[in-house]
This record gives sequence, structure tokens and C-alpha cells, in this order.
Amino acid sequence: MSGYGLSKSRIVAWKQCPKRFWLQVHHPDFLEVSNEAERGFQVGFEVGEVAMKLHPGGILIDDEDLSRALDSTRKALESHPDRPVFEATFQHDGVLVRADLMLPTRKGYRMIEVKSAASVKPYHVDDCAIQAWAIGMNGIVLRSVELAHVDTSFVYQGKGDYHGLFQYRELDEEISPLIEQVPKWVAEARLTLSGGEPCIEPGEQCMAPFECPFKTYCERNMVLLEEPKYTLDIFSRMRESTKQELRGMGYEDALDVPQELLNETHKRIQRISRTEIAELDPDAGRMLDALLYPRYYLDFETINFAVPRWAQTSPYRTQVTFQWSCHVEEEPGKIRHEMFLDVSGEDPRRASAERMIGTLGAEGPVFVYNQVFEKGRITELAELFPDLADELHALNGRIVDLLPIARAHYCHPDMKGSWSIKAVLPTVAPDLDYTALTVGNGGDAQEAFREILHPETQDERRNLLTEGLREYCKLDTLAMVRLAWFFQEMSDIGKKS
Ligand code: SF4
Repeated sequence: MSGYGLSKSRIVAWKQCPKRFWLQVHHPDFLEVSNEAERGFQVGFEVGEVAMKLHPGGILIDDEDLSRALDSTRKALESHPDRPVFEATFQHDGVLVRADLMLPTRKGYRMIEVKSAASVKPYHVDDCAIQAWAIGMNGIVLRSVELAHVDTSFVYQGKGDYHGLFQYRELDEEISPLIEQVPKWVAEARLTLSGGEPCIEPGEQCMAPFECPFKTYCERNMVLLEEPKYTLDIFSRMRESTKQELRGMGYEDALDVPQELLNETHKRIQRISRTEIAELDPDAGRMLDALLYPRYYLDFETINFAVPRWAQTSPYRTQVTFQWSCHVEEEPGKIRHEMFLDVSGEDPRRASAERMIGTLGAEGPVFVYNQVFEKGRITELAELFPDLADELHALNGRIVDLLPIARAHYCHPDMKGSWSIKAVLPTVAPDLDYTALTVGNGGDAQEAFREILHPETQDERRNLLTEGLREYCKLDTLAMVRLAWFFQEMSDIGKKS
């Protein structure tokens, strides 16, 4: 047996990419865990906690020391055959596995792997096969091997009652042909470890099933290769398979792709990238000129949870608006700022809806950037609070979406084919800058809000994050104000070059 201990997660890493697995063991110092991956671990932890609470009377194996964990598991199974065991730890042929839930039945244990995902993924099946193999080799009878994943149709009714949060899927049929493969996987993984660093180029495997934490290490040699200024990524909404085809034909530089292979939008992006001259159709400004005052510029920050926090919300599906920012332009060029942010930990939806109705009044255009999102949230609030429904629906009727106006009438080479507000803003208002903010994007905003709500967050940190959220959301609506002004000013001047 090799001196390297293996675990279920290491074998899964080997299946994703042998080089990842090799680096994990030989060069953990190169590992860089992204914020998103950290968030994923935290969500997994929260989901696991709920899963345990749903099965009271269980014995948790929480020894950090491996041999003690193995010993505690053996004792728990022997002494309490009628009680659930959580994090039961087993080892076979140097491979360590921890089963999230082992639930006793008269015909053996239900072994349940708990995942925060909303459905069963192919790697979950491998995962369960490795566990079932190791547990079976320890002589434990498994009645079933199951995966508990979050059920997005669950509607939380409050009071900590999470019965129904999980869907349990039996995977015995799927894992049955894989169990006999596991010893082969283990042997091949060991072979990988005993050799030098595998020669594997970065590719699709780097993002699936997980974002690889060694991407920086692997890509650092690649960045030495000169990349064209305009890669195929400037072709917005082009399918990845089409880009692959173009690369297969030898096109890495977007400017080299023949016109006959491009649609009208892509031809336009290519033309502007080639000339490096921005194009603005004065119709954008004319459309805005025709609108009345006061004008409102509105943006939401929302959050969803794997484990719902507030009654009448569902895992992942319910986007709760915890913050909004609104710049009000009473008359041309005269703006004031309004904001809603609830960090109390209570359900913010009612207060958010009431304040929004009060701030946005009864008339005047409400500018947003990508209306599907804001309209969707307002519609949900109207469904939740029937007494506010008329006023909320009326707000939706006043929405003017700046995104399609920008997309149809404006393009700048520095946007590199993206019309996201963060791509457009530096080309129209370079003095507004997201990079210096504590909270710099929507993902950061969600993470900041989660951290603010966490009971262990210190006051000083909570205040810093709260201020960061205020600045960030305010900048989002100021960006819209400046974009609208830019369109109007430039329509007076004509075409910008
Ligand atoms: S970045 Fe890609 S190639 Fe490098 S180890 Fe990770 S998965 Fe393998």
C-alpha cells in the first residue's frame, strides 16, 4: 500500500483531473480556494446541520483524529444499533470515507449522502459508489444508498420546521456497476501519485464538476502565450460550441473571423473592435428626452438561501430583496438618493415593498438595467402582499429598461462585447469606479449580507460591510443616471468617436 492516504474527495478530485489530485497531495501550497468555493463549503455545512436535526437521537462522530473517529464509529454502531450515526467514519485499503447519515432499519442501514445541490449530479453517483464500497468492505449491511439533495419546491413555513427540505433519491441501481470499478480507481489514483506531475493542459475539466483550485497555477504558463486583444469572447451570447468550432478552424483572434460566419450583432462588435471607434445612435437620447420627470433609477440586491431563513420562501428559488437603491431625478440634472437596507435579520420584504411604494410615488419613469430581474421581484412582492398588489403592479408598469436601449444603440470597443452595466459604465463615466469598493459586485453583496446576518460577526466588521453595501448599491443606480445623461447629451452632439 502506498504511504499516501486517500479519501473519497481525493478520488473524486482524481476523476476530475489526475493533475489536480497530484497537486492536491504534492503541492497543496499552490491551492487557491475561490470565494465561491468557500461559500459552497459554508452552504454545505448549513445543509448538513439541518439534515442531522431532521433525524433526532443521532450520534455525531466528530473526532478530528482519524483513528479515534474510526473507533468511535465502530463503538456507536455496535452499542447503539438502533440510533442514527452522523459522519460515521470508515477506512478500507487506505481510503477514508465519512457517511453524512447512517440511519438504521431492520434490513440494514440507509446510507445517505447530503448535498446542497438541487438535483443529483453524475459526480454524486461516483461519490456514493466510493462510500458504499468502503462501508460494504467493513462488513456493514446497507439497505440503501441514497442522496439527499435540496428540494427547491419546498416552502418553509417557519419555526425551524425543515421537514420536506430534502428529496431522497435511492442510487443503488446507478452505483451497482460502479462499485466494482472503485478498486481500479484507487489503484490508478495511487499510480498517478507515484509518478511526476501529470502533463495535462487546462480545459473543460477545470470547471466541472467543480472549479479547480489550481487554475492560477496551471494557467500561469498559458498567459505567457500572447493572447489577441479581442478574443472570441467578445462575441456576446455566442455558444461555447460555436467558439470551439471557430477555434478548431484556427480563429483565436475575433478580428480574423470571416463575416460570413458571424451574425449581425457579432459583425457589429467585430467592426467596432476593428475600428476602435464607439458608435452611439442618437435615437437612444431622443427616446429618453421624451420621458417625463420626476425620474427614478432603481436597483435591487437580493439573496437566496439553500436553507430558507424566512417563512414563505423556498430554497434557492426565492430571491429576497434585502436592499434597494433609488436615485430620484426631480428635474433635469437634479438628483437625490434614497435607499432601503435591512440588516436586522428579520424578513425584509414587507418593509422593502412599503418603502419602495412611498419613495417611487405614483408617476414618472422607473429606470432599471435588465427589467426581467426587477419586475420579477416586484411581481413576487405583489403576490405575497395582496394589499400592496395594485401599487406594486403600477410600479412595474412604469419601468423603462436601459439595457435594451444600450444594446441597440451603443457600443464601445472597451466593452468587449458586453453590455453589463459594469462593462458599459467605464466607457461613459470613467470617474465612477467599482474597484475601490469593499463590496464590488452582486456576489460580494450577497456574501456581505450573509456575513452581516451571521451571529458570530463582530460589530466592527458588520458596520464595515453594511457601509460597503450602501456604497455599492448607490453606485449601481448612479451608474444608470450617468448612462441616461450620456445618451441624452450625446444625442445633442451626434455621433461620438
Ligand atoms: S486547473 Fe485544470 S488542468 Fe490544472 S489541475 Fe486543475 S483541472 Fe487539472
